[in-house]
Formats: sequence, C-alpha cells, structure tokens
Amino acid sequence: MRSYAIGGFAIAISIVPAATAAAAPAPAAGTGFTPDGNMARSAVPDAYKWRLAPLFADDAAFAQGLTAQAEARARLKAYTGRLADPAVLRDCLTLYFDTRLLTNKLSLYGNLRYVGDMTSTEGQGLRDRGLAALNDLMTDAGFIRQEVMAIPDTGDPRLKEYDPYLDEMRRRRSHVLDAEAERVLALAGDNLWAEIDLNEIPSDYEKAFHGILTGLPLPVIRDEKNEPVTLTLSNYGKYRASADRRVRKEAVAGLFGALRGQEHGLAATLAGQMHMDVFLARARGYDTALAAYLDKDNIEPAVYRNLIGAIHDNLKPLHDYVALRREVMGIPDIHLYDLYTPLVPAVGREYPYDQARRVLPEALAPLGPDYVATLKTGLDLANGWIDLYPSRAKESGAFSSSVYRIHPFVKMNYYNEYDDLSTLAHEMGHALHSYLSSAKQPYVTANYATFIAEIASTVNEKLLSDSLVARAATDDERLFLLNHLLESLRTTIYRQTLFAEFELLAHTAAEEGTPITADFLNATYRRLIARYYGPGLTIDADDEVEWAYIPHFYYKYYLYSYATGLSAGVALAEGIQSGDSKQRDLYLGMLSAGSSKPPLAILKDAGVDLTRPDAVVAAARLMDRTIKDMRVILARKAGE
Ligand SMILES: [Zn+2]
Repeated sequence: MRSYAIGGFAIAISIVPAATAAAAPAPAAGTGFTPDGNMARSAVPDAYKWRLAPLFADDAAFAQGLTAQAEARARLKAYTGRLADPAVLRDCLTLYFDTRLLTNKLSLYGNLRYVGDMTSTEGQGLRDRGLAALNDLMTDAGFIRQEVMAIPDTGDPRLKEYDPYLDEMRRRRSHVLDAEAERVLALAGDNLWAEIDLNEIPSDYEKAFHGILTGLPLPVIRDEKNEPVTLTLSNYGKYRASADRRVRKEAVAGLFGALRGQEHGLAATLAGQMHMDVFLARARGYDTALAAYLDKDNIEPAVYRNLIGAIHDNLKPLHDYVALRREVMGIPDIHLYDLYTPLVPAVGREYPYDQARRVLPEALAPLGPDYVATLKTGLDLANGWIDLYPSRAKESGAFSSSVYRIHPFVKMNYYNEYDDLSTLAHEMGHALHSYLSSAKQPYVTANYATFIAEIASTVNEKLLSDSLVARAATDDERLFLLNHLLESLRTTIYRQTLFAEFELLAHTAAEEGTPITADFLNATYRRLIARYYGPGLTIDADDEVEWAYIPHFYYKYYLYSYATGLSAGVALAEGIQSGDSKQRDLYLGMLSAGSSKPPLAILKDAGVDLTRPDAVVAAARLMDRTIKDMRVILARKAGE
C-alpha cells in the first residue's frame, strides 16, 4: 500500500448526512447497473461515486487551500532557531499540526481526483500539486526535529498535548549525529527519519531496477486458443494462473528466462539497495539494517526472527498444500508454475452491491452493534465514502484513504464477484480502523502504524469467509470459498515470509561482506523454495531467479508485515469468534488506539504478542484445518 500521506492515513468522523449530500441522480444503489471497465467515468451515475466535498468543495477551494498552506509554511519557518523556549515550541507545533492536517487534505483530494480518471490532465495537475505541498512541508518543517533533538526534555506541562509526538522523536535520540554528519547523511539520501512510509521513497537502485524491468525483452507465448500473445508484467499473473498447463508453463518460463538474461544487472541493483540500507543503518550506530529499519517503526527485531522461526517450525501445512494440489490436479509432478491456477472451479455466483450491503453486516456482526452501525453508514453510498464501480481510466485495485475527522474514502473496482466482496470487506476494515482511531484520538496520535494496518482488513476477510462457508448452499460453493482462504494463507503467510527471509539473508550478506552476486542470490532463493515447499515441489532450473522481479525487496524491510498482519488477524478473529465479548472489546480497543502506544504494545493489549510464535501457529493451524475440510468435501463429492 502506497499512501502518500504524512503520518499514515488516519481518519474520520464528520459523516456528511445523506440529506445534505449532493443531489445524486437515479438508480437505487447497487441495482440495475452493470459494471463495465470500458465505460467513461462520466457515464457512471454520481450515486456510485465518492463525494469529496468534506475535503474541499471544489477545485477552486483546493486552490485556495494551496495558497493558505504556502502562507502557513512561511509562518512556520519564522520559528527556526527559537524552539528551546517551551511556549514558542508549543505555538510552533500547533501551527505545524494545523498545517499538516491541511496538507493531508490537499494531498488526499488531489490523489482522489486523479485516480478516478488518470488520463485527465486536470486530475494529474491536482495530484502533483497536492504531493508537492506535502514535500514542501516536510522540507520546511525539518528544523523542528533538529531543534527538538538538541534541547533537553524538561517535561514542561505546556507541551503535554504534543508529548507523544516529541517522545516518538526523542526515542531514537541516541542515533542522531552531529550537525555536519547529519548534513552529509541527508545528502546521501538518508530516509531513517522520513515521516512517510519508506516504501514510498524509491531509491536510485529501485529506479534502476524498474528501468531494467521496463526494458525486459519478454517473449511471445501462445494463449489458451493457441493465439500468439506478447507476455507483459501485467498479463503475467493471468497466464500464470491459466487452467491450461501449457499456457502457464510458457508464461513462467517466459518471464524467468527473460530475468535470467538480466540476472547480473538485477543482482547489481539489489546489491546496491542492500549496501545502501546497511550504510545508513551503520552510519547511525545500528548493528544491522534490520535493527535500524524496524526501530524506525518501534518494532523489535525479535518479531522478525520470531516470524521466520515459527514458519520454519510450521512448514507441514505448506507441504500438505503441495500434496493436495498433486491429488486434486491429478498430476504427478507439481512445479512452481502449477501453484496459481485455482484448485477448484469458480461457482460463478455473483454478489451485486445491494447483496454486499446485506452480507457484510451479517458477516461482521461478531464485531458488535456499534461497529456494524458505522459499517452500514459507510456502505450507504449516499454518504459518499465509496467510489464503487470501474471505468475506463480509473486506477485499478482498491484502497481506503483518510484524513483526520473526515470520513474515509474507499476506492473499489466492483465487478460483483466474490473477490470484489472480499476486497470490500478488506477495505472497510481499514476504513473503520481509521474512523475509530480518528474518533477516539487527538490528531497527534490518530494515525495508526503501517505495521498494524493489515490486521483490521484481514480480520474482516476471515469473518466474511467463515460466515459465507457456514451459509453455503452447495459443496462446490464451500470448496470455492475454502480455496480462496487457502490461497490467501499460502501467498501471504508462507510466500511473504519466504521473501522476508530472503531479504534478511541478502542484507546479512551485505553486512558480512559476502559479495551479492546473481549466483549468491539464485542459490539462496533456490534453497528457500526447496525448504518452504518441501520435496513435493519439482524445482526447475530457472525458478531460482524469481527474486529478480519482486519490487518489495527495495522497500527496506516492509514486506514481513504482510505475514505478521495476517497472522495477528487470524488469531484475533478466532478470539472474536469464540463469543467472548471481552476479546471483542479488546480488539475494538486496538482499532480505537491510533498510535497512542507503540504498535507492539497496542497489539499486546488486544491479546497478541508477536514476539512469540502463537499467532503464526494459529495461522498455520488454520491452513491445516482448511486443507482437511477441503479433503472431506472432495471425498464426499467423489463418493456421490
Ligand atoms: Zn490492505
């Protein structure tokens, strides 16, 4: 998730009442409309689009906001050199946070105007101006951190309201260097103090990596109808999942063969990133890049090592998964290119939006009446939270994005399929997390850490899946839903942990002075696939270069949080489903906690300790149970 906001994407309470929302033409929400990705955005009724008015009434108001922001930045700079006086510091922080909130609105408005129609030069301009305003504020406010670090913490009561912000800065005071060294590190691209998510700041190595990928000579393959088609990075996923084994084999062989041809260049860009990460960590006195980048988010390296260790101890469900594929697909040798085609056919059941509005509140009922009431408010399109349907130039995918005490904005590309329903549950999880933290926290602590962001979303997905399985009318439908859950566990828990271990080994090589060559990376990756998938997977010669096209290795220890997020989500969902209202309330407390405590402490309060293996074990057990449930249903069907 790339969010382009300072201090995350915290959110919302002032819901625009339906009565005052802009008059929306025609059809009743969710009925009688057929989603069409080729439709012009202007042809989609406004009733299905979000309402940006709570941010800015229109583009003219946005422009006024930009002017006000530039003036505020000029006033802010006047505080330079004066922050040792607590009264002055207080005034400065008040102005800084007011300006930051305005800036969050600007960058969000610009981005939301852009993603609806990416071909509109107007939208591009608004997005660029919003991002520039964000960048300018970060630059102009840089003096605050430098001065705060240099003055002692006197515990002055006038600063109480800003203590969480000041304490968070001071937490890493021992890693601040003298002014000259700081100046040099800034010139070298220091990112350990950036206030936006690090994955949003591409290094020159990442840019070079994307440059190589863009020019990757991908071959022409033959599709299911035997027609020639040029493989691209965007159609790769589709052909890799083809039900036709020849097609998926050609797709994977085509990409991996092309990566093989560039493996030395791609090894060099990755080695550059690893050395850069290690350099910036060591310059600030950290032993490892892992310690430095996790400390940025106040996470102990023990969490990372615990994840890898717990997965190593729980690889059996993944080995069983390969065996299940072998049996269901009826092929003796499972290859990497066999892992993405659906194990069972889609049942073709549709979930038009008006059904989603009934199904989701039912499925999320275990979260309690207050949660469900807010969910229903968000799902009512008249309230303007959701931009529901696809159109020709709309950005693909989905997200939830928010600004303090304005309702969340959820982008969907809803085609009425189960995936869309599940994605809606996921994004509404983020949206409600933002809504609750925004409602219950002051602005200073309203934004939640990226590290815990994927918990609220996965809890909702799990509750939805269980609710639909319990209500499924046929075995085919049950199998389809269980397979969906199984794939999300496989790709999020196991595949991302494999990546996380690879990233750790690559950084460790940089730290130990081991040359990071293509041979080294290939051998490391090959060893990991063999270990994770077990002897049931037949490894082909080029499988070892799969690492070479994964952008996340340039995100500075980011992707492990997918696996820890889903593990924690599974553990918490099981607690909520136990019917123990105390566990539910602890979870709702986590959703309302924003960043009022360090992320691990907030999670611990909710009942999950990620320095221990329990959550990963819960996820592995769920995978094991899902495989067993599928086997039972498959055996029943075979006996029919
Ligand atoms: Zn998410």
